[in-house]
Amino acid sequence: MLAFERRDLLTSAAALAAAATATFAGSHSAHAGDPSFMNNVPDPLLAGKELPTFKFALEKSSGKAIGDSFGKEATVEQLPISKGIAGVSMRLEPGAMRELHWHATAAEWAFVLDGRVRTTVIDPRGYAETNDFDPGDIWYFPRGHGHMLECLGDKPCHFILIFDNGYFSEFGTFSITDWLGHTPKALLAKNFGLPESAFDGFPKDEVYFARGKAPPAQPAKPLQGWKPPPQTHKYRLLAQPPHRVFKGGREWRVDSTRFEISKTIAGVILDLEPGALRELHWHPTADEWHYLIDGNISVTMFGSHGRYRVETLEKGDVGYIPQGYGHSIENVAAKPCRVLIGFNTGVYETIDLSQWIAGNPTDVLATNFGQPAALFEKFPKRDAFIAAKEGPEKAG
Ligand code: MN
Ligand code: MN
Repeated sequence: MLAFERRDLLTSAAALAAAATATFAGSHSAHAGDPSFMNNVPDPLLAGKELPTFKFALEKSSGKAIGDSFGKEATVEQLPISKGIAGVSMRLEPGAMRELHWHATAAEWAFVLDGRVRTTVIDPRGYAETNDFDPGDIWYFPRGHGHMLECLGDKPCHFILIFDNGYFSEFGTFSITDWLGHTPKALLAKNFGLPESAFDGFPKDEVYFARGKAPPAQPAKPLQGWKPPPQTHKYRLLAQPPHRVFKGGREWRVDSTRFEISKTIAGVILDLEPGALRELHWHPTADEWHYLIDGNISVTMFGSHGRYRVETLEKGDVGYIPQGYGHSIENVAAKPCRVLIGFNTGVYETIDLSQWIAGNPTDVLATNFGQPAALFEKFPKRDAFIAAKEGPEKAG
């Protein structure tokens, strides 16, 4: 951890304590640990005169590589503003497996960019599910559920992982070889009812990426037989028609209303035509995390107190918008762009600026802006959502 970040954390802890004391003194309804209350505690990082950067060049970072497989991460270490969501770009070469592991502090949501992936995940009731994934498919593993990921076939696979905790590091997971390698053989022998010698050849340290033969087309039967869970961990996002289509682009969206198990993360694939704009809006209940799959975008962020910041993202870059902060996304290239967007909520919510304006009496708008009420008759009658290069469609 860098020195300034350590100081930030200390300042943050002190501010939290002070704010908590102050608020508890005057309120009986706030409880420690209540997320809606904690959200109102000022974040020192966001309290300055200028907004901090909200961009990180993920694919240009080095991360951790073994053979031709890699993991590159964006956590609060790389992108300090991203406290609510961390992300990883992972590539597995043929025959490589991200070994059996779990995350103590985050759920995992993934979008497959290239190649094919097989996963197995177990839950506390002993259900286990093995699924094969193609590009455009997603998975969700609840916090703490053990899982593995492996490359299928003879081509590498590449996917983006999203975690509902910006402090989560992909390199601090609980890996099975790390655990068994540091447990005395006598204890392992007792645990499994086997001779100690059965563990002689086991790895002594974390393997992280295990490498072997390409997996069989059909996975071998588990020791307990197949015992699939009532809720699947797989959703074929891009196999669906887009959920909203506009003149300037289209959007696929998935949250727990479509993909039941995904209770803490929602996702969007947003395509914008050249010059198109995902209009000014904010999310009342979630932070937003971007990964630019293709193209060039300009992202604006409004943070109150006159603070406004613009970042330009290119392919492989990550962006972040804190919960409630106003923002927009514009395609500034001459070709279409595609953005993967993650939210740390099970139910997606947005308030779009044109919708907000359309919901107010025109006399209110006239007074607020000091303009004739007739001017507002020209505004969109509902959310523009995506405005084409020429402007929003005036849908009634
Ligand atoms: Mn994982
Ligand atoms: Mn947004």
